[in-house]
Amino acid sequence: MHYQVKDCQKISDRLYRKLGKKVFLNELKYPKVKIGTKDLEYAGYYYFKENILALHPRLALGIKETIAHEVCHAVAYQWKTQKTHGIYWKILMRLLGLKPRIRTEDWRLSKRK
Ligand SMILES: [Zn+2]
Repeated sequence: MHYQVKDCQKISDRLYRKLGKKVFLNELKYPKVKIGTKDLEYAGYYYFKENILALHPRLALGIKETIAHEVCHAVAYQWKTQKTHGIYWKILMRLLGLKPRIRTEDWRLSKRK
């Protein structure tokens, strides 16, 4: 593991608080950050129902963008029940000053086959 969960939780909380206030979420439900399993297909994944933000255990590069991406899913869902990379998700990414890219390139240090 190349990162500390508590640091990722802090980043997630900060971004979530910022976006939640901007879109006037009635109740802030901070996503819980966890380390996903090695076979997680993505750099990060947001579980809508459980409100869990999972990060790939070998995620190294693009970690902040990955967290931001998933936090935007959490807020888009709680704000407009949107589960896709749709307009609300895109607006939230822009509010964080990020391009609404769906993939984070080179998110692993080394890609093993
Ligand atoms: Zn996504």
